[in-house]
Amino acid sequence: MKIAKIIVDVPASSINQTFDYLVPEKFQDILQEGMRVIVPFGPRKVMGFITGFTDESSHGNLKEIIDVLDITPVLTDELLELGKWIADKTISFYITVLQAMLPQVLKAHYKKEIVRLSEMELNPELEYLFAGRDRIQYEEFEGASMSYYHLQKAVQDGDIAIEHLVKSKITKKYTTMLKPAKPVHLLEEALLDLSKQAKKQRKILSYFIEHPDPVEKQKFKSELNVTESTVKTLVDKQLLESDKVEVYRNPYNDKMIKRTEALPLTEEQKAAIKPVNEHIANQEHEVFLLHGVTGSGKTEIYLQSIQTVLEKGEEAIVLVPEISLTPQMVNRFKARFGSKVAVMHSGLSTGEKYDEWRRMHNKEVKVVVGARSAVFAPFENIGIIIIDEEHETTYKQEDQPRYHARDIAIKRGEYHQCPVILGSATPTLESYARAKKGVYQLISLTKRTNEKEMPSVEIVDMRKELHAGNRSMFSHLLTEKMRDCIDKGEQIVLLLNRRGYSTFVMCRECGFVNECPHCDIALTFHKNSSRLKCHYCSYEESLPALCPECDSDLIRYFGTGTQRVEEALTQLIPEARVLRMDVDTTRRKGSHEKILNQFSNREADILLGTQMIAKGLDFNNVTLAGVLTADSMLNLPDFRASEKTFQLLTQVSGRAGRHDLTGEVIVQTYTPDHYSVELASQYNFQAFYNQEMAVRKTFQYPPYVFLALITVSHENRIKAEQATRKIVQTLLNHVNENTVVLGPSPSPIPRMKDRYRFQCMVKYKNEPSLNKYMNSILAHFHDEIRKNELMIAVDMQPYHLM
Ligand code: ADP
Ligand code: ZN
Ligand code: ZN
Repeated sequence: MKIAKIIVDVPASSINQTFDYLVPEKFQDILQEGMRVIVPFGPRKVMGFITGFTDESSHGNLKEIIDVLDITPVLTDELLELGKWIADKTISFYITVLQAMLPQVLKAHYKKEIVRLSEMELNPELEYLFAGRDRIQYEEFEGASMSYYHLQKAVQDGDIAIEHLVKSKITKKYTTMLKPAKPVHLLEEALLDLSKQAKKQRKILSYFIEHPDPVEKQKFKSELNVTESTVKTLVDKQLLESDKVEVYRNPYNDKMIKRTEALPLTEEQKAAIKPVNEHIANQEHEVFLLHGVTGSGKTEIYLQSIQTVLEKGEEAIVLVPEISLTPQMVNRFKARFGSKVAVMHSGLSTGEKYDEWRRMHNKEVKVVVGARSAVFAPFENIGIIIIDEEHETTYKQEDQPRYHARDIAIKRGEYHQCPVILGSATPTLESYARAKKGVYQLISLTKRTNEKEMPSVEIVDMRKELHAGNRSMFSHLLTEKMRDCIDKGEQIVLLLNRRGYSTFVMCRECGFVNECPHCDIALTFHKNSSRLKCHYCSYEESLPALCPECDSDLIRYFGTGTQRVEEALTQLIPEARVLRMDVDTTRRKGSHEKILNQFSNREADILLGTQMIAKGLDFNNVTLAGVLTADSMLNLPDFRASEKTFQLLTQVSGRAGRHDLTGEVIVQTYTPDHYSVELASQYNFQAFYNQEMAVRKTFQYPPYVFLALITVSHENRIKAEQATRKIVQTLLNHVNENTVVLGPSPSPIPRMKDRYRFQCMVKYKNEPSLNKYMNSILAHFHDEIRKNELMIAVDMQPYHLM
């Protein structure tokens, strides 16, 4: 009898090992690696993935696989192997990685039910709950606030049992199709036999005599204006047939998109694409860093190299940052490759995501355009992987498994022996340094395809404005330019660089700031609801009328949230029509698109927003881009603050004057001399790179070293600190002498959700066994972690340092 090796869905165990299970006779012929099964695990049933088979097991008393969830494997051999590698690299559970590779609906969904075993009279409370049924949901018991004692007793007496069920939430969508059940000549005969009064029936039959193809029933009924009962009569007479068929949800209406052809490339583009196409032809792996200013035609290069890949019968993965996955962007791919394109992003419903995934899994599409997780596309013949805006931090997943899509893309590129393109106008220092060292191959596009200059950038010193008596958030220059622009009927994008900024409430008398009682962070004021909310936990409270500290009524809100800017803006220029785009106005599905459409239809003069508006938008009537506070990120405790500022300013500038009209950019700042602000205004990436590399070298930050960040939290401050100290000690005992281990120090947010947070930072150049040390640290604290007392998050190559 065969034995299957299975990774079970129990991430609480500290082990990445497989368990052996017997394969029952009925499954002998169908089981394959990469399939999901249900197996017994202790008192429960859990889902698991088959990772291999064996004839012998060193364990006695093996249990049998209970059920099989898939007919074809959901994970390929490549992905199973890749998962192991990721688990090791990111210090995650293998099972967590495997699940991260699959759409949400393929995750198991566990249910508990209470089953009645005997006819014996139960305790009256339980009797009442069962209400004559044999089986109830465990939640019903929990919701009824009954004593657990009765439940336990009934279980012990053998009157009831608690069952653990595993369900897979797969939801396929069906539609009913209608078609003739007989050949046309028989339908014609039937039509002759029908009475003249049966008008609707005659109408339907005549239709099918002319168009004998299947039609969607619902649509058909409304188009012909006939009822279900008329249709049913014809079905009962066996003249028509109705059939349920599975359909894919399609979030995009492909038919509306006009097809485009490959553009003749510019000389620069030709030179850039040549080595890529050669690598595709030779089945050779290489990482290309495509450095090109905004509007230099990077996307056209992606499109044409994908074309080459498709002609070879291979597949392509394109990663785009979540917020750039606008219909505009998606349509460029659909316009070129039509229905061969699947799209994956968080705006899709879970059902839609599952359907897009299945289209890839069934090889019905050849290209996927998607956010981070699309890097796990279940393709088996990948010919190219492209990461657009490679500097975006959203490519790093912030919870387990903390992987970076770039690493995965390169790993898959090696496996498939295909090129990987990392594209950006402002590459990360890490990638650019690698390109300079020859680890990646650098390809550059220096000119915009329309030969237009980048818009001129003017820096406004807000300190001078203040001295001149202007206390508003808009400089004189920006105000004037905005008025001009509106007069000319042109449009404006206005960026509030809001990271590190928010509206908080402070007492003007005593300086009291309302903080979250569970997290050490000021509460954010939401004007619409007049409530104070915490951004890290769900805590909220109403705005106090008096200061809780000194009873003063001079309690006011401060800071510059987008809502406040909008108010100030409409006061300043009352005739301006303003659209606001931030997390609050884009929460609902489709609202993001709606705002962009309104702006594109010129229903507003100004698009005001956070980071969201800086990415990938392309409106031909925008001639002015304004940045309200260029430096608000620079004070954050993040060694990448300058780099992020440079990237953001460069990107915003790329929004203005993309087409025929000439653009202008105004950057307001309190630190006009900062090199990231100054060099961004000159579009001087090289100079910025050199200067920032010098800083990184001095302070020993990436790309000169690798980082690992360990964040420890506990409800008890002393315990958190002690555990961190222990970790620091353990590491110091093992690592090389030139490796730096910092800590324990309080995290930048020292308390979150009532847990105290400490961190340890490791800076290293070469530490081949670091992952092993990390694993043994986790093993050492295993019991406290399992009891949820201690939490230890290990982030290898962190991007988020808070
Ligand atoms: P990027 O991705 O670098 O910002 P795009 O690929 O979006 O640049 O190109 C900018 C604009 O130039 C787009 O409108 C695109 O259609 C156009 N474009 C790109 N390549 C060419 C070309 N070879 N000839 C003419 N227009 C081009
Ligand atoms: Zn006060
Ligand atoms: Zn909180």
